[in-house]
Amino acid sequence: MRVSGLDAHKIALRLSKREKLTPRQATLSKLYNHKNQLLDEAIIIYFQNPHSFTGEDVVEFQCHGGVVVADMILSAILESGARLAEPGEFSKRAVLNGRMDLSKAEATAKLIETKSIDAALILTKQLRGDLADFVNALRDSLVEILAFVEVNIDYAEEDLPQDLLVQIQNKLHHNAALLEKSVHASQSREGLLNGFKVSIIGKPNVGKSSLLNALLSYNRAIISDIAGTTRDTIEEEIKIGTHLVKIVDTAGIREAKESIEKIGIERSKKAIQESEIVIALFDGSAKKDDDDQKIIDLIERYHDSKEIITAVNKKDLEQRFDASCLDKPLYISSKEDTSVITDRLKAYLDSQSLEDDLILISKRQIQATQNAHNAIKEAENLLTFGELELFAFHINEAIENISSITKSFQRDEILDKMFSSFCLGK
Ligand code: GDP
Repeated sequence: MRVSGLDAHKIALRLSKREKLTPRQATLSKLYNHKNQLLDEAIIIYFQNPHSFTGEDVVEFQCHGGVVVADMILSAILESGARLAEPGEFSKRAVLNGRMDLSKAEATAKLIETKSIDAALILTKQLRGDLADFVNALRDSLVEILAFVEVNIDYAEEDLPQDLLVQIQNKLHHNAALLEKSVHASQSREGLLNGFKVSIIGKPNVGKSSLLNALLSYNRAIISDIAGTTRDTIEEEIKIGTHLVKIVDTAGIREAKESIEKIGIERSKKAIQESEIVIALFDGSAKKDDDDQKIIDLIERYHDSKEIITAVNKKDLEQRFDASCLDKPLYISSKEDTSVITDRLKAYLDSQSLEDDLILISKRQIQATQNAHNAIKEAENLLTFGELELFAFHINEAIENISSITKSFQRDEILDKMFSSFCLGK
């Protein structure tokens, strides 16, 4: 249990009946409640402000396991004047007291909830301060540019000297490129954080739901939702290596066996658009027909923008499907073995994890970075026309936006909104 705030130290002294606690020292101590009943023998560690997680006095009680003992100690702490923390309140206090920047707080919140190793690795980097370093370097560079230009606005009548102008232009160009790169990396590698979306398309009866079930590796009812009550999109999550994969069921994988005309090629299109990876499935035991051709035509349109995996299913049956029109298809049996699909997915997902780009982890961070990028572009433009005052305005805007990623917001409701999504007591 952790207690933070002005009275934390006093509460620890009262429970332990001690005169003092040495900061940062683990002290084995008996703990008592108000009725003088012995509750436990526990370890107390006192972190004197500002050297604590929240920047306030913090006391940690490490008690014996089980719920009852912890509960009794908690009650004694509350009786002594403490209250339960709001979700995320410890991190919020840490931010408000300048112990943690906003980007690290965001990473903490996400790390607690994350389901994939990919995401955890990105988040720990942000927790280490990689994003904060990036933001600080960029801010310093922009502030320096601003200083040069403002000197010229204030003290010189003439235009900026040519060599200085070129230097500033180069710096701006470099900064804008960095921002753009991180936005792009974050958007294209969103799957690392939130899971890669995969769709399975194909005409009815090729084995889509069988493949889905095989991938889920447990036997689900094929139609698990009552027809008509299903949400538009269902997602099933699986883990492949370090990656989280979400299988998007937009095309109604488990739907009634309608002709592709009825299910609508539109829904397959929607499924493709919503996913990064598409598995196009064909029935190896049947001759290729018009419905298959529609799927082939469809995936051809997305070859450049999506990772397309073509697979011929039912390899355990006699083969009638002419696969010569497909690009290196995988041959599988949803009933017996789909490991080649998993291997292929894994190879693709691994290739996505290799790059060491800086990844932004929230919409807020991406938006701020984009705004900063746009402001720099605007400023670059104005510089060529010698509009120094307007130029300075936009550089200021860029600085504000980029700073907002790490600095705490002045407005409380934004902080409240952010921290309320935290787990209790973090
Ligand atoms: P969907 O309409 O594309 O979802 O197809 P289903 O998964 O419902 O499969 C249609 C039929 O093909 C079912 O009877 C499955 O049992 C069968 N099926 C699916 N995969 C295989 C396979 O690899 N081998 C064999 N022999 N039958 C399969």
